[in-house]
Amino acid sequence: MIFTDDFSAVQKYQGISLRDIARKYALDMLSLQNRIMGVDEWYRKPRIQFLFIHHVFNDEAANFEALLQELSKDHTFISHSEAVNRILKGNIDRPYISWSSDDGFKNNLVAAKILNRFDAKACFFVNPDSIGTNDREWITGFCNERLKMPAVEFVDWEEVEQLQKWGHEIGSHTMNHKNVAHMTVSELQDDLHTSKEILEKHCDAISHFAYPYGRFFDFNKKAFDLVFEAGYTSCSTGERGCHISDGSEIEKNQLLVRRDQVICAWPLRHTMYFIANASKKASLLSNYCPSSMD
Ligand SMILES: [Zn+2]
Repeated sequence: MIFTDDFSAVQKYQGISLRDIARKYALDMLSLQNRIMGVDEWYRKPRIQFLFIHHVFNDEAANFEALLQELSKDHTFISHSEAVNRILKGNIDRPYISWSSDDGFKNNLVAAKILNRFDAKACFFVNPDSIGTNDREWITGFCNERLKMPAVEFVDWEEVEQLQKWGHEIGSHTMNHKNVAHMTVSELQDDLHTSKEILEKHCDAISHFAYPYGRFFDFNKKAFDLVFEAGYTSCSTGERGCHISDGSEIEKNQLLVRRDQVICAWPLRHTMYFIANASKKASLLSNYCPSSMD
């Protein structure tokens, strides 16, 4: 059975559009402008920045390690649980980074081994239906339709348990990566409970949830409330932003965790541009669910 294990093969599958090329040049200009103007103050700002990846393919590993090395100069790496807790308690005293990963590809193990070298604990958001499956046809259909990817191998249960043994956390990303905004209330309630229950047969208590696709329009306020009713402590989006505090506490069912996506194959300067930008634009309002989701 052959699975994709290089990002270059993913790029070939997804195709490169003119828009991608224009975006790359724009980011080159913006990151250069940032470097000229000096961005160190933004990296040093007390905040919690959640960064998430989907994969670290063989040809991305060196870049991921270089990114961690760069970030470790100004940031303390903390777990998803500690990061959530600090926001809830209003205790953000220095620059923190918290890592997570979505979709549960087998190369999460490559990511974890690199994170381990920096003593960085991540939260791996997984879909129980894809864990340990070796049905090539199912994997190809699932990856093509739900993830817009060529066939990539998923973690098995032993590997999920290994991630936990290394001190990483496991979270639910729904049973099988359906768009939550298209589910009925009872479908979502069932999915939130079942995925939590299945994961808890193999892992410690599952406290964190990240919804698939990650844009605001892939979610809604009712779904947000159901996440907490199902017993989760946190809910994460894939919308960019970072978290600051004025020292006040907030309720767990008010916090929508913003995360910045990182593609490890990106040039380091582009990722650092996004991080500086999120820090520059940080607002207390980013801690809450936007009213447009009501
Ligand atoms: Zn996903």
